[in-house]
Amino acid sequence: MLPEKFIIHIDMDAFFASIEQAINPRLKNKPLIVGSRNNKLRTVVCAASYEAKHYGIHSGMSSQDAFKLCPNLEFVPADQSKYIWTSEEILKLVKTYGYETLYASIDEFQLDVKNTPNPKILAEIIQKQIRETFHIGLSIGISKNRILSKLASKLDKPNGIPLIDENNLIETLQKTPVEKLCGVGPKTQIILHKLGINSCLDLYQKPDKFLEQFFGKNGNYLYVSLHGDENLEIETASQAKSIGHSYTLNKATRNPGFIKAWFRLLAEAVGSRLRQNNLVAHTIHIYIGGEQMANFSIQKTYKEATCDGYDIYLRALKIYPEIAQKTPQIRALGLTCSSLAQNNYPPLFEKQKRGEALTKTLDKINAKFGSNTIYPAVITLTKE
Ligand SMILES: [Mg+2]
Repeated sequence: MLPEKFIIHIDMDAFFASIEQAINPRLKNKPLIVGSRNNKLRTVVCAASYEAKHYGIHSGMSSQDAFKLCPNLEFVPADQSKYIWTSEEILKLVKTYGYETLYASIDEFQLDVKNTPNPKILAEIIQKQIRETFHIGLSIGISKNRILSKLASKLDKPNGIPLIDENNLIETLQKTPVEKLCGVGPKTQIILHKLGINSCLDLYQKPDKFLEQFFGKNGNYLYVSLHGDENLEIETASQAKSIGHSYTLNKATRNPGFIKAWFRLLAEAVGSRLRQNNLVAHTIHIYIGGEQMANFSIQKTYKEATCDGYDIYLRALKIYPEIAQKTPQIRALGLTCSSLAQNNYPPLFEKQKRGEALTKTLDKINAKFGSNTIYPAVITLTKE
């Protein structure tokens, strides 16, 4: 029997690299990496095109290693403004379908399409429209809850639209390794394997209480992620108590430049959404997720509110050292702003302020890190 409701999980394929290929036809169908800095031999891979992935290149890897695997690799320094702009345009487009929509991360969006009779056809229409509008690929997963739909989106990349429902649930879970499930990091994976839980089906067959015994609250999360018929919790702009973004890295990393680059990008994305909703925030909250499912977080409230991406980033960097050592490797990070208030700047003035802020930002980077770091709107503003 079909479940009564569906969540559609949209996951852009090789997002940053695809955007660069869409903008510059010379890069189409070529192995390409997007680097966190503009020195192509001294940076970290932020994103790899599918053509580059075929050589074993992945994000988090040093660009030197990437060039060893593929000497003809194309290189583009990351440009966060393009990625945030595209992400927000995609969000606007998916919202026009009229369903409750969740901005899950910069390249992931979830729609609660409830009991739509044929979610697969709807997903095909959405996929086609996004592809034709932005000229970039995307995979869509469909299932009864957020975790299963996210899992589905990974099963047939790129450009797939897998659906997990009651008809293929068992078969799909059986052939999917448990580590593919969102929230299962390397350490959890080791414990699961010791318990004889190798596939998602092994996990599915364990009772809630059994998982709780070994993983506490996270055990319940694991159980619900496969069994739950979850409701999307949507925060609309008018009732939002917080605005946040998060990202799960393909591989765990300890590289400080890479981590800071991601905080910069998340801060810009959060700042941009605050400004769109004419809000400013007093509190900043960051978290890092380690190899285990546990997250470590810290927050700080400031008297002076902000909606400026660079300010948010600097505030994040100030509190980050307090949690940085809590986990040897970082796999996920998030940044949320709360204690929101209406921004009292008139929009026109705010626009001018943004222009000035951008210039100031570039000046600050120049002064702080030296001119060889400068690249307008580069994703990372840090030395490794
Ligand atoms: Mg993606």
